[in-house]
Amino acid sequence: MQLIDGKKVATEIRKELKAKIDELKSQGKPVPGLVAILAGENPASQIYVSSKSKACEEIGMKTKVEKFPTTFSEEELINVIKKYNSDKEYHGILVQLPLPKHINENKIIEAISPKKDVDGFHPMSIGNLVIGKETFVSCTPAGIQELLKRYYINTNGKHVVVVGRSNIVGKPIANLMLQKKYYANSIVTVCHSAAEDLSYFTKQADILIAAIGQPEMIKRNMVKEGVVVIDVGINRIEDKNSSKGYRIVGDVAFNEVAAKASYITPVPGGVGPMTIAMLLSNTFKAYKLYGDTNE
Ligand code: NDP
Repeated sequence: MQLIDGKKVATEIRKELKAKIDELKSQGKPVPGLVAILAGENPASQIYVSSKSKACEEIGMKTKVEKFPTTFSEEELINVIKKYNSDKEYHGILVQLPLPKHINENKIIEAISPKKDVDGFHPMSIGNLVIGKETFVSCTPAGIQELLKRYYINTNGKHVVVVGRSNIVGKPIANLMLQKKYYANSIVTVCHSAAEDLSYFTKQADILIAAIGQPEMIKRNMVKEGVVVIDVGINRIEDKNSSKGYRIVGDVAFNEVAAKASYITPVPGGVGPMTIAMLLSNTFKAYKLYGDTNE
């Protein structure tokens, strides 16, 4: 069994991006920029936004966090997005979700210019992904594919079974693996909570992608020998031996499944670190593609 070290790969990607940005700087050129927009007081969102912004700073990217109170209106938020849609210094716009309840998330996502949609949540980005056009792919699915690439895992004609059909993980990774491209071209099955016998499907997986949000749900008897396991889940479970009183586990019972797997991602340190790395990568891509043409 080989461990897929997402932390190591994410560090490599950040270093590669930093080198490219250092080169731009040495040539006196502008650098890519990401603006993160946060509305409301959600503590987890505040932590996510500050870690994304810190990651930008570390590689020399321009970054700014725009914070607004919970009372901020939908219209005011749309106006802020419109301002950044035409700001040449910011190539990526990230609106941290969830938003306060009175704000319609779909309207906000649709207000972001598809040229700056580095989270890949805009319907145009999702549509382009489905029809196989070059686009911004949301960061967690893009990170999963990048891990498969960097470990040279053959996906061509392999049976990928995705458990979970969310808009941010399950559906985009299924569409990504279905594309007629390198490190894709797979036979894809998507499962969800209506599956009466989930293991009937998971046992057929050459590559199993678990994005369920249920601690250690995938057990040894649910996978076949030699499976490649990508565990997206991040779940907190009680742990009296830990000073925090809890520990983080994935959707896969790691030790027992690892014994049968050919490759497996750990939690933490697998898919998780890739998400921010791919956000940086998408922002760099936005700069390269549209840096000179932003409205
Ligand atoms: P959602 O809750 O949006 O989706 C979970 C999916 O799992 C749903 O499609 C649901 O089915 C399905 N599901 C739930 N229970 C079962 C079951 N018993 N059998 C089969 N399918 C089931 O979660 P997300 O996709 O947002 O996230 C999934 C996990 O990944 C979470 O632990 C989350 O924290 C983590 N995550 C990690 C990220 C990272 O590493 N950076 C980023 C995003 C998420 P149904 O549609 O029928 O309800």
